[in-house]
Amino acid sequence: QSEIQRSARPAPDRRGGGLRVLVTGAAGFVGMHVSTALRRRGDGVVGLDNFNAYYDPSLKYARRALLQREGVYVVEGDINDVALLEKLFGLVQFTHVMHLAAQAGVRYAMKNPASYVHSNIAGFVSLLEVCKSANPQPAIVWASSSSVYGLNTKVPFSETDQTDQPSSLYAATKKAGEEIAHTYNHIYGLSLTGLRFFTVYGPWGRPDMAYFFFTKDMLRKKKINIFEGPNKTTVARDFTYIDDIVKGCLGALDTAGNSTGSGGVKKGPAPLRVFNLGNTSPVPVGKLVEILENLLNVQGKKVVLPMPANGDVLFTHANISLARHEFGYDPTTDLETGLRKFVKWYMEYYQPLDRASLV
Ligand code: NAD
Repeated sequence: QSEIQRSARPAPDRRGGGLRVLVTGAAGFVGMHVSTALRRRGDGVVGLDNFNAYYDPSLKYARRALLQREGVYVVEGDINDVALLEKLFGLVQFTHVMHLAAQAGVRYAMKNPASYVHSNIAGFVSLLEVCKSANPQPAIVWASSSSVYGLNTKVPFSETDQTDQPSSLYAATKKAGEEIAHTYNHIYGLSLTGLRFFTVYGPWGRPDMAYFFFTKDMLRKKKINIFEGPNKTTVARDFTYIDDIVKGCLGALDTAGNSTGSGGVKKGPAPLRVFNLGNTSPVPVGKLVEILENLLNVQGKKVVLPMPANGDVLFTHANISLARHEFGYDPTTDLETGLRKFVKWYMEYYQPLDRASLV
């Protein structure tokens, strides 16, 4: 209890905005980085994560250990556990919730669809139910995804574009999250800000993402599959470096504004906002591999295959002018610079941790 309250307390010198933030998914890739950045500027942070086994939980526990050293306490629990959430809100008057907990990954949705409904839909609703009754109500910033653009072909993707053709169950649950957010904003006056992240990468990243498993497989001299679209179309992603995403998350939190003032007094209509957080410069997956080959000094055993029908889209490309205008979002890291930092971390930290890669 006291550890949670200590972790939630903003630094007395009020660097940062003096926020008290509940970060869900804090032991995840983005969650770890956002929690660290908030704590380092003096905000109070409590993490929540269920440490699920979607990918190597030891990586999540290592992230938690790092957060512990930063003074961030991470509670082990599920966002569907309403009693636990109520207990946390009873201990701390959170000003903000940074909701990052989710079942991520497009392809895994074909293997375990129920986990997406559990975390991304039911879990989001249970969190919003608790937030709506909290006094004061916290402002909520949550992770949506570029995947909501689905089969949209108009580039770059803008927030006003149609999102009515999600091409995977993951995308559909992220889209459902946006609809649910609208409802809670409309009925209960909750302040909600959705961030559509575009392929986030960097140190402490997710082993299920292509840049990560390409690195692992190339170092083990294994084959890597590079998919291409119909008629040999190039597959490209708007890869966005984690530090840029973190700045976007902090900008969104700082401009979120509570829906209720102290004592639950309503300040006026609460905002419902949605922003793209991308890099505005899509890179073909073949180029990603080429950069990794140079950085690792390894010739990849590339196999080019037609893209399977697994829910992945051909390309993503963010228009970020809205986030730029609203909170000065300005990504500055190009793919080569960001991958260099990822590879350094991988060699120094992950490879020794991941003993299997030595076999
Ligand atoms: P991640 O899987 O590393 O982090 C998510 C964390 O949430 C994990 O640590 C997991 O254990 C936790 N979690 C999952 N279900 C939970 C539950 N029911 N209760 C409590 N904790 C739970 O993923 P990430 O890359 O850090 O993604 C963070 C958010 O951003 C997710 O919402 C994801 O959908 C979204 N997103 C990520 C990317 C990307 O490229 N990384 C792109 C678009 C959107």
